[in-house]
Order: sequence, then structure tokens, then C-alpha cells
Amino acid sequence: MEILVGKLAGFCSGVQRAINGAKETLKENDKIYCLGEIIHNPAVVNTLKQDGMEVVDDISRVPDRSKFIVRSHGLQNDIIKKAHEKKLQIYDFTCPKVKNIHRLVKELTEDGYFILIIGNPEHPEVKAIVSLTEGNARVVETPEDLKTVPSFEQSAVVVQTTFDPKAYLKIVKEIILLSKKIVVYNTLCEETIKRQKEAIRLAEKVDYIIVVGGKNSSNTKTIYNIVKSKVPAAHIEDTHELDINQFRNIQKVGIISGASTPKDVVKEVYSSLLGFLN
Ligand code: SF4
Repeated sequence: MEILVGKLAGFCSGVQRAINGAKETLKENDKIYCLGEIIHNPAVVNTLKQDGMEVVDDISRVPDRSKFIVRSHGLQNDIIKKAHEKKLQIYDFTCPKVKNIHRLVKELTEDGYFILIIGNPEHPEVKAIVSLTEGNARVVETPEDLKTVPSFEQSAVVVQTTFDPKAYLKIVKEIILLSKKIVVYNTLCEETIKRQKEAIRLAEKVDYIIVVGGKNSSNTKTIYNIVKSKVPAAHIEDTHELDINQFRNIQKVGIISGASTPKDVVKEVYSSLLGFLN
């Protein structure tokens, strides 16, 4: 059996920046707080916890005047306001690509546009974008969601950076009829698109593909959904979920990862697979 590993496996630049930032911050401070896990990877999170990061599920649990980091997804406006009220020292590691959407949405809102955000309403990146629209927005995840969106004089469309490009185009086609003036911004992350394209190329070369990444990672799920329509596939978080029975009679296996998966985890999956074969 041959094993092919995607070249883009490992962190994207935004996640890498946030992890590096957290590590640097921990060198200068004994304790920092993070609302939710910085990435959905237990090994990375545990190392940071050992170095002094405390993960909380509510901003109220962060002691006043503490050091507080913002993850690559960004954070809702009301939470940032609370952080200021608590006089927290904020280390903002929001991905610059997500920050661009924030700037865009604020400007468009000021200019009187109704904002349509294509994405998953429960995703932290989308929640943060919504919070900048002064309630003048709607999140759309499927074309069906548009049925309840009223018509507006002028609307603007942005999209969650890690959304499935095909699903995005499908929704945009339907949106065109909603307003007299519509401005559509393609805010998909080009790194994510490159990774998806690589996943498709890999899927075309192999008989089976393993997608490594958090089960609640949006970009990993998108990659998995794309490749599984082409070839049998598995979405695993780490080697523990590898099932050797899946690889009997398989000639070529591909390994690809989501944007928040450390390279080490991909290497472990590769080594385990080699181990199974020997
Ligand atoms: S997937 Fe793209 S937008 Fe999201 S954190 Fe990574 S680089 Fe930034």
C-alpha cells in the first residue's frame, strides 16, 4: 500500500499565529485566560495549559485585570466590551483575514447595507461578525434559510472564511433576487481553498483518504465532505481512531489535515499507518 500525504498538512497561518502568540505571551506571563480552547486539539491545548493558560467558558470567570487572549476566530463585540470593563489586558490573535471581514462589515453597516453572512450561525467566527452589524444582519447557511429573509434596498454579502465554496455559490445565486442593490464579497480564506483543492487532487489519486482534524473544526468538516463525495474517506482526530480493517484491499491511501491540526498529529497518523502495514 502506498501512502500519500498532502503538502499543506498542518496549521494554517492564522492558527499558527495564534498558537505562537499564546506561547510568546506565556513566556512573559505566568497566567493567561482564553475563552474556549485556542484550537480543537487536546495535545496542543494541554501543553499550553501546563504553561499557564486557563480555558474558561464564560468571560465572567476571568479575574479582573488578568491577561486575556482572543483566538483566531475573533470574539463578539459584547464580550470584548466586558473584557474592557474588567480591565483585562487583551492579546488579540484574531486572524488578519477575519479582521478584514470585521472592517468590511462595520463599514458596510455604517453605509446602510443589510448584511447577509453566509456561514454556520453557531460558529464563533460568524457570531463575532454578526456582533458588528448592530442587528442589521442575517446568517444564511442553506438556500432554504433565504425564504425568511426580507427584501432590502441594498444588501451586502460576506462569507465565513472556511465555508464550502460550492455551497457559497449556490446561496449567492439565490441571493441576487433579494435586493435592488447587492454587493457580494468573497471572503473565503484562500489558504482553505488551496487546502480543499489539494484534497480534491489527492482524492483523485487514492482509493481511500484520511482527513485528520477536530470533529468540531469547520474547515476539516468541509474538506471531509468534499473528499468523501469522490472516494471512501474517514475523518479522524488522531491515530486512536484509525481502523486497520478499513485499509484491507486498499492500494493507495491519502492523508490530509484541517487548518487547526498540528503537523505532528499528521506524522503520527502516517507512522501508525506504516506500522499497521509492517
Ligand atoms: S483558515 Fe484562513 S481565515 Fe481561518 S484562521 Fe486559518 S488563515 Fe485565518
